[in-house]
Amino acid sequence: MHELVGALRSYAWGSRTALAQLCGRPVPSAHPEAELWFGAHPADPAHVLIDGDSRSLLDFVADDPQRELGPAAGEFGGKLPFLLKILAAEEPLSLQAHPSTAQARAGFEWENRTKVPLDSPMRNYRDDNHKPELVVALDRFEALAGFRDPHRTVELLRALQVDGLGSFADLLAAQPDSDGLRTLFTTWITLPQHVLATLLPEVLDGCVRYLSGKGKREFTPEARTTLELAEAYPGDAGVLAALLLNRLTLEPGQGLFLAAGNLHAYLRGLGVEIMANSDNVLRGGLTPKHVDVPELLRVLDFEPIDLPVVLPEPAGDGSVRYRTPAPEFELRRFDLTEGSAQVPLTAAGPGIVLCTSGSVRLLHGESELTLHRGAAAWISAADSDIRARALDGPAQLFCACVGKV
Ligand SMILES: [Zn+2]
Repeated sequence: MHELVGALRSYAWGSRTALAQLCGRPVPSAHPEAELWFGAHPADPAHVLIDGDSRSLLDFVADDPQRELGPAAGEFGGKLPFLLKILAAEEPLSLQAHPSTAQARAGFEWENRTKVPLDSPMRNYRDDNHKPELVVALDRFEALAGFRDPHRTVELLRALQVDGLGSFADLLAAQPDSDGLRTLFTTWITLPQHVLATLLPEVLDGCVRYLSGKGKREFTPEARTTLELAEAYPGDAGVLAALLLNRLTLEPGQGLFLAAGNLHAYLRGLGVEIMANSDNVLRGGLTPKHVDVPELLRVLDFEPIDLPVVLPEPAGDGSVRYRTPAPEFELRRFDLTEGSAQVPLTAAGPGIVLCTSGSVRLLHGESELTLHRGAAAWISAADSDIRARALDGPAQLFCACVGKV
């Protein structure tokens, strides 16, 4: 096991307090801090500390994939198949979806053939992999994810009492299924600017009226989110499209899984995120980055879904597990109590142990490693018998390892 130093990513939507606070640094930070990456992604690998030397985890794994990854080396081409992050969103992120493996392969090949440079901002597919992702809330985490039951969406659109939305609500009411959602989403996301310029202010007025009205206000979070999105991205068709999505709030410890084709946008919050090691994102709006609506429409899954919340399940070893169908990763959480005995971190390697609250001591044979909150360790495949103990109070650990297929 080796201490792992994460790569800090600064994006405009990040927070000047959340990550710094978590890692015990002064606040506010000089820049908005959005993500802390623990992984071997070529764009920004974490670094392992070995006897005072620092090496990129990418190179470290590539040197001896068999030693570091064990049997997973063969399965995933000698590369660490997942990327673990701490994510701190102060502002909404883009409206996006990720492709399936087949879509990613076809898209990557096509962009190679048509000679879109790999580092071009116009590039949709930077690799040929899918990108299932799971986020676990560290505090309240708000997001839009998946298409809401169309019957409920019709109720929402009518509750806003906006004349310009009437015909759209009728359209969806006449076809309350994935085809109706596809038609409505496609119409809205491609509305000519002059139509949008009239409709959007009407919708925002409707939201304001709705929020200040009397009586039952069951769509309060949806109306608020619409206003917030419009403030952050004025005139963006994604604000309308967001009306079709489930609006959800995760309590600390709850997870959200985003399968291929699930349209989503994180709104705000602090969480631990794990995903397949891919950078393939199709964006539909709410961002200054590259948006490719036709390609997004090709990969989207319009089937309405319930909230894709993943509740932790006891794993039988003192940890809880977030079960997903992704073969690239498995995420478990240990809540260690003060003064507790040493807890074996079963099957921690190959993978990453991340401390998210308190301090822990990791023990392996004769060696020891102390992790304070915000710090992580790389666990080689061979280091199967790691134990952990909380120091000075309760502590929380996340163990990210390669999934069991
Ligand atoms: Zn995503």
